[in-house]
Amino acid sequence: MIKGHCLCGSIQFETEATPKGVSMCHCGQCRRQSGGIWSSAYVQDEDLVIRGPVRWFAASTHARRGFCADCGSFLFWKAQDEGTTSFALGAVSNPTGLTLEKHIFVADKGDYYDIADGLPQKD
Ligand SMILES: [Zn+2]
Ligand SMILES: [Zn+2]
Repeated sequence: MIKGHCLCGSIQFETEATPKGVSMCHCGQCRRQSGGIWSSAYVQDEDLVIRGPVRWFAASTHARRGFCADCGSFLFWKAQDEGTTSFALGAVSNPTGLTLEKHIFVADKGDYYDIADGLPQKD
């Protein structure tokens, strides 16, 4: 069981499914919304229970980004035409039982750090 919540606690989420796609996203949208690298994993929509008032922001026609309107925590990412929702690993309580698999959108990453963990990097 994975459980997480936003900084203020008004949004809670949990899943009993095994998340996939454990990754760190370096894209410009995640950088700006999260303040840095956004770490996430995804499950099928029906396997993710969300409680609380999520505010959704469509940064593009492709996907929506869910965050807490009170404390600003960036918690969810949802593509328009996929049946999955990604959730922020930073909001999950330890132990997560998860291990990072890859870095994505590294072509957009900030120039102030290097990725040196040897994991796959996708442009
Ligand atoms: Zn909050
Ligand atoms: Zn991103």
